[in-house]
Amino acid sequence: MKSIIQNQYVTLVFTVLFSLALLLVHKPLDAFLFYFLLILIACTILYNENKRVHSTKEIKDTNDNVWNNALQNRSVVAYIFAIGLIAFYVVIYWWPARIGYHDSGNTGMVSWMDPVSFLLRGKAADQWFLYGFLYTWFVAVFGFRFVIRYRHNSYQVWRTFSLIFFQVIFAFLLPVFFERMNKPYHDFKNIWPLNYSFFDASHLNLMSAQGTYGKSVLISGILLIILGIPILTYFFGKRWYCSWVCGCGALAETAGDPFRHLSDKSHFSWKLERAIIYSVLLIIIVMTILMLWTYYFQVDSTIAQGVLTFRRVYGFVIGAVVSGVIGVGFYPIFGSRVWCRFACPMAAVLGILQKYFSRFRISVNGGQCISCGNCSTYCEMGIDVRAYAEKSQDIVRASCVGCGMCAEVCPRGVLKLENSSPGSTKTQAFVPREDVTVLFSSGDQT
Ligand code: SF4
Ligand code: SF4
Repeated sequence: MKSIIQNQYVTLVFTVLFSLALLLVHKPLDAFLFYFLLILIACTILYNENKRVHSTKEIKDTNDNVWNNALQNRSVVAYIFAIGLIAFYVVIYWWPARIGYHDSGNTGMVSWMDPVSFLLRGKAADQWFLYGFLYTWFVAVFGFRFVIRYRHNSYQVWRTFSLIFFQVIFAFLLPVFFERMNKPYHDFKNIWPLNYSFFDASHLNLMSAQGTYGKSVLISGILLIILGIPILTYFFGKRWYCSWVCGCGALAETAGDPFRHLSDKSHFSWKLERAIIYSVLLIIIVMTILMLWTYYFQVDSTIAQGVLTFRRVYGFVIGAVVSGVIGVGFYPIFGSRVWCRFACPMAAVLGILQKYFSRFRISVNGGQCISCGNCSTYCEMGIDVRAYAEKSQDIVRASCVGCGMCAEVCPRGVLKLENSSPGSTKTQAFVPREDVTVLFSSGDQT
């Protein structure tokens, strides 16, 4: 892989040949240019990352100068980029015709997806197929960039491969395969309460009419809620989902990696985070109870209509505006985990379990901390890790997604992600990092 990426000519030839093959499948020039551009961007990103890491002497140089990059320091460029992302989400959600989605036959951007869509699922593309394709492309390309960047850390490498795997197979290819088999769309790793339509009357009816496939969707979904979530969170904390499986986490950890330092570490943000995320959780629990009540019991049609309106408002505000438009659109302004940190009801459930019912913790060897603040800077969840390190206090926070980046950037080996029981971590051996001197030359610490 290294030799291919490092050789510009091979990369270019590969790009042209692959694009020509795609051109044979789909003739219009605009589609050809679209695929050509995607491949060229992917090769350029991976080539540059590979070249950069091999010319970097110290591992800690990896994140140098993030605050000097216009895209990463909330400059005008970052705001323009954020507006572009937000506009894309608004169009996808509410004006898909603007990018060419039409029942009578696609045009423009959506039509470029038609050959891939026909190939995979036997029908024309729609805006969601285009979105899923681009989302998966971003996770895969930036995922490999992340792997190259943090190649020395097996935890980072394996969890990134896991995120790419779940995105490509579970979120993209398997649902597409089900559609080809004339089955309804379903992403098996999308669990309630993140999947807020799971207990919708329409979803329950649809799956009940699908025989074995429908039963396996419903049974696996319920088993994951009552058994999978508590058991896995008990042993591994919320990281098993947020940093190894979830699609939102996948995008945040890969395409969102350049923006992780932008998370707000203030106490006000922490208070806001708790107020919003537990409110969203409460709302979805009440909403789901009402939905099941109207589904299983005969209720007045006005009440049933009111519950349906409640569900639609939730879908619009939380499902579309907060998770998509704000959650991803504001990456360049508030960092990559805005949705996960402030509003994801799944993160709220996992967080409560992690805090009160889990073996997961970040153990701290505080005597070695030199208060550089690298850990706090790169915590995408806005946790002031340094404050814990200075007090030599193990970190057990509901919001921690176990990304491991605080331990990764710590020049003193102070932090360690563990699944052991409390009290068993204080004796961990201190292993000094070779590159401690970089600390003093790095210009991006808080
Ligand atoms: S505390 Fe560390 S492991 Fe937890 S979210 Fe922050 S950087 Fe990731
Ligand atoms: S990165 Fe390590 S040394 Fe620096 S403040 Fe955090 S725990 Fe302390």
